[in-house]
Amino acid sequence: MTITVAILGRPNVGKSTLFNRLVGQKLALVDDTPGVTRDRREGEGNLFGFTFRVIDTAGLEERFDASLEGRMRVQTERALEEADITLLVIDVRAGLTPLDEHFANWLRRSNKPVALVANKCEGRAAEAGLAEAYALGLGEPIPISAEHGLGMSDLFHTIQAAI
Ligand code: GDP
Ligand code: MG
Repeated sequence: MTITVAILGRPNVGKSTLFNRLVGQKLALVDDTPGVTRDRREGEGNLFGFTFRVIDTAGLEERFDASLEGRMRVQTERALEEADITLLVIDVRAGLTPLDEHFANWLRRSNKPVALVANKCEGRAAEAGLAEAYALGLGEPIPISAEHGLGMSDLFHTIQAAI
């Protein structure tokens, strides 16, 4: 059985960069269904030979408008329904924002396993943001750099432990 991993989080935290890293060359499909799902991509992710279905809740940033929160809600709920594990991605360089807290509160109330993924952790600029991440109440953040491919082994172990 293939498990489904959903990548969630506010715009610009690096969700698509992580998606691309997990999916590599094997980008399976772009979902062109009109409406909310047009914002989303899915593909076959691979970490150290373990394969899984991965959903990127993408594209919201291009259409940032008054109904953003509503679309995020619908998209997040749909991805959540399908997910076996959810990765909530935050940007440690930017620090926590109310939207991060909004996502965290919501995911804490879901019954799905949630891993808090602290992205952009390469280099020293990350330390303060990483410490701050505990405040989201989702446990220990997993430090990664989606762009540089750091922390993938911890991410792999977290996904394994959750399924
Ligand atoms: P999304 O909106 O959450 O899908 O974020 P994107 O994947 O589009 O990335 C937003 C920006 O963050 C882009 O400029 C990326 O190059 C940058 N980014 C993504 N991952 C990292 C990372 O690990 N480190 C740094 N420094 N920048 C990153
Ligand atoms: Mg994106």
